[in-house]
Amino acid sequence: MSRGSGGGLDANDGRVWLGTPAFPEAARTALADTQLRHNLRHATTTIRAKRLDATGEVPHWEELREAGAAIKRRTARHLDHYLEQLERSVTEAGGTVHWAGDAAEANRIVARLVTATGAREVVKVKSMATQEIGLNEALGAAGITAYETDLAELIVQLGEDRPSHILVPAIHRNRAEIRDVFAARMGDWGRAAPQDLDDDPKALAEAARLHLREKFLTAEVAISGANFAAADTGTVAVVESEGNGRMCLTLPRTLITVMGIEKVVPRFADLEVFLQLLPRSSTGERMNPYTSLWTGVTPGDGPQDFHLVLLDNGRTDVLKDTVGRQTLACIRCSACLNVCPVYERTGGHAYGSVYPGPIGAVLTPQLVGVDKAPSLPFASTLCGACYDACPVKIDIPEVLVHLRARVVEADRDRRALPTPEALAMAAASAVLDSPTLLGIAQRAAAAGGRLTTRGGRIRRLPGPLRRWSATRDTPPPARETFRTWWRENRERR
Ligand code: SF4
Repeated sequence: MSRGSGGGLDANDGRVWLGTPAFPEAARTALADTQLRHNLRHATTTIRAKRLDATGEVPHWEELREAGAAIKRRTARHLDHYLEQLERSVTEAGGTVHWAGDAAEANRIVARLVTATGAREVVKVKSMATQEIGLNEALGAAGITAYETDLAELIVQLGEDRPSHILVPAIHRNRAEIRDVFAARMGDWGRAAPQDLDDDPKALAEAARLHLREKFLTAEVAISGANFAAADTGTVAVVESEGNGRMCLTLPRTLITVMGIEKVVPRFADLEVFLQLLPRSSTGERMNPYTSLWTGVTPGDGPQDFHLVLLDNGRTDVLKDTVGRQTLACIRCSACLNVCPVYERTGGHAYGSVYPGPIGAVLTPQLVGVDKAPSLPFASTLCGACYDACPVKIDIPEVLVHLRARVVEADRDRRALPTPEALAMAAASAVLDSPTLLGIAQRAAAAGGRLTTRGGRIRRLPGPLRRWSATRDTPPPARETFRTWWRENRERR
């Protein structure tokens, strides 16, 4: 993978970064793609309306949100305790726990576990953690083929594409595009699509079902992520809509789950809260079509060998930041993406990370370091819609502003000379400190504004302000200052 101008990382750093350009450049390209914008607008508008209906019918929705946020806050405060408790519970139930400090270690552990079974193919349930660490690529390098079984992930994998949404990774594709991908690529990965495949959703789903069934019936090993894991019982939970995940979680002999350490919850009973919050926030449904729960292994029933890989990969660094740590509460519902005006126009690829949208704009810079993704905290209008939608009340705008300050500080520390922006701020501070200088500056701005105004707007500011005004309409300064107005209208009375 290449390193983008946004400072993206490659897989060698142990953290996958998709290698796109920095957000402003990538967003400009996305904005020019009218088909993409149409697909996104259609999908996000539909999910948004469904979510509002589903959350609106719960009278105690705000209390549920607060309960979810409180559980997550408590978990973060005592994360070490709950993780050790989870390890004990899983081990007592017959599973094996592995600790992975970074992506490279997690990939090594999983590749070793798969190799030990003798399998060269694995089926996968959709998992953001395994995308984050680049597991498919790492397994490929070890001679193991990973088959995605989530329908949207299958579309992404067959199309050699990238996921662009947390919940609907192929949201940027329409039906006709999906048909073309299936027709062209399914045969390379297993059972081919029917010759006469059309873009009817039923026909597409049937083609995927037949293609995937072969994989389910032959796979010896499955790899999953985890939505939650209860520390007191060692129970792991995966929620999904299609049932393909359940096939992975029950049919193969060996199950390997890769889970970010923040996914632990203290008690099994806490699932009650999250299993209400998640489906309504993500798909606008009252409950998940499929919720799979398993506790270690059960002789004669389901996988007989269970491994849980607990992944840090930057999360303990996030935990150290008292403002940023709320990001770890995320339950990956994607509600913030679907309400974000920036995401709706640019799509997920522009964020250059497996975590797109508002949550990606705060999580990615914290996981990889703000100096590696400096444009992402600015990929927002700070309108606050994400905060309102978030079922666990993550104050994303607060974290965005906090990270913006960290980007500026990191930049200042790195430079020998101050930036033009820093010089402008220092000059502005001196002017605002002095009533005389402020008066002179206001009169000069009013005179300059008159010269540069066209149609009631300043189209382009001079010098270093040119880039700022290139994408904004700047209102002209007032013709007279407040002081002048006061002198003429009040002091003379
Ligand atoms: S930040 Fe909140 S709204 Fe966004 S994906 Fe996470 S839980 Fe959902």
